[in-house]
Amino acid sequence: MPVKSRWNADIPRSSLQQWIFDSACGPLPNRRAYIDPEQPDSNYLNMTDFRFLAKRVALGLQGAGLKEGDRVLLFSGNNIFFPSIFLGILMAGGIFTGANPSFVARELAYQLRDSGATFLITAQGSLKTAFDAAKEAGLPRDRIFILGGDTPAAQEVALSSNPGPGQKGRIDGAKHWTELLQGNAKKAESWSWKEPKDPETTTCCLNYSSGTTGVPKGVEISHYCYVANGVQVIHLNELDPEWEEKQKRARALCFLPLYHAYGQTYFVANFPRAGVPIYIMPGFDFVKMLEYVQRYRITSLTCVPPIVVALAKSPLTKKYDLSSVEGMGSGAAPLAKEIADEAEKMFNGKFVLRQGWGMTETTCTCMSWDPLNKEPSSGVGEMMPNCSGKLMSLDGKTEITKAGERGEFWVTGPNLMRGYWRKPEATADTIVVDADGTRWLKTGDIAYFDAYKPGGIIHIVDRLKELIKVKGNQVAPAELEGLLLEHPEVADAAVIGVTINGEELPRAYIVRQNPESKITEQEIADWMAARVTRYKQLKGGVVFTASIPKNPSGKILRRQLRERAAKEVGDL
Ligand code: AMP
Repeated sequence: MPVKSRWNADIPRSSLQQWIFDSACGPLPNRRAYIDPEQPDSNYLNMTDFRFLAKRVALGLQGAGLKEGDRVLLFSGNNIFFPSIFLGILMAGGIFTGANPSFVARELAYQLRDSGATFLITAQGSLKTAFDAAKEAGLPRDRIFILGGDTPAAQEVALSSNPGPGQKGRIDGAKHWTELLQGNAKKAESWSWKEPKDPETTTCCLNYSSGTTGVPKGVEISHYCYVANGVQVIHLNELDPEWEEKQKRARALCFLPLYHAYGQTYFVANFPRAGVPIYIMPGFDFVKMLEYVQRYRITSLTCVPPIVVALAKSPLTKKYDLSSVEGMGSGAAPLAKEIADEAEKMFNGKFVLRQGWGMTETTCTCMSWDPLNKEPSSGVGEMMPNCSGKLMSLDGKTEITKAGERGEFWVTGPNLMRGYWRKPEATADTIVVDADGTRWLKTGDIAYFDAYKPGGIIHIVDRLKELIKVKGNQVAPAELEGLLLEHPEVADAAVIGVTINGEELPRAYIVRQNPESKITEQEIADWMAARVTRYKQLKGGVVFTASIPKNPSGKILRRQLRERAAKEVGDL
């Protein structure tokens, strides 16, 4: 019998925007939604500005030709306009897809082509990459909108009927994004978005993930998935009897990237819905993070493991007053219990630092903690409301119900993706439909339960899937292997993750085309570095080998290579 959650929450059947704002035109609480920590008095959006700006983006996109179901790719670091653009795309009936702002043109072009995006909104600083990628993907220049540059402060953009540089901000055929807002302020006041007929089957977001195997794929998240995941998180928070009081003083700091499911669900949906003001950083910067926590009395930190490591280990942590922080969570990759303990000490043991677990394919979070449970644990929590989990033998045939025994972790719940965008085979390989019609996601993670029953805590102990996680970012071995095979001197290649100083890094095993070849490990690493973003580079090393271990059907025996790498790295 699968392990059910102890809780069941009511999930409204509405669009994500309806869930966040309650209505298109009704009054909203007069409080800040997004604040630029560098210019807090001039560059901020109230809840009303946030919704108003999103409605204007929606009208602008519709005016520019966006039709229901069209994809819009946002290629930018964080800023206070990002959430309005995200929700504007949804309000227009479109589908949001976000790319890592550090992508090179080849990577961006892949996502443009794969998603079939018909609009690209790009940070001005990434314009060259955007132009190159758009050319490769055949997207015309007039479908490119530029974010940033001489954009005036958020308040001015949100409220003005003639915002921004308009036509003057055009560069080589691309328009400034504020052109989307030209002349629509009056109409936006009374305009309402069209609610999706069926929020469960209406995709609102394509977040990219390689899943258990292969290259990155668009994970189709419906409005219903998104709302469900928000309701699940808030349902747990509300179990804390002090929650309401805590909410009144709550302030969040966003340094996680908003293009990724983790940053997006917390900082575009859950915190605004729960009424928490958010200070938005363009990206992660450790010292600035500490400064802002102290200056703005930030109450919660939503982290990934390298940030927790920095908090635990850096001598700088002690130099700042972090006494306002009342809670901290970590997710996206494994966090060692010792590090969590050390980080807790930095906050004088005021709270238990919890790890959650999630996947892009489960919208975001799928396991988390009862706030009343204060037991120390190295686990990732119990099943979230409305979710169930089970452990299966590696051949997927037998359920492993014994506490402490390991198996592949499978999950189900209302937050489960619809499937992979235009990839029915990959979807069928990942989602197993059982005899009663329940859709189970094979996570590719190896886990055990400390008790195989509702409330049992799950411990993630290994990864069955190919995926490599570098500082919480996904690296798909299949993508790097495909690239390596394009190198004229490479006959065969395999990429696996290796852990060096507690960090997972991509390492390549290469079979040379010609045994006499003089090509060096460094030349291969440099060749790769020219073709991928920083975190995908082969920083775990390049190793020449006589052959790549494979099974009879040609599948790379990754475990064998991982064991070999662990030995080699230990020998270094
Ligand atoms: P992503 O889709 O980028 O969020 O990656 C999901 C994967 O990250 C999971 O399947 C796990 O392999 C890994 N992951 C996420 N959270 C944790 C955690 N708390 N502990 C261990 N691995 C995690």
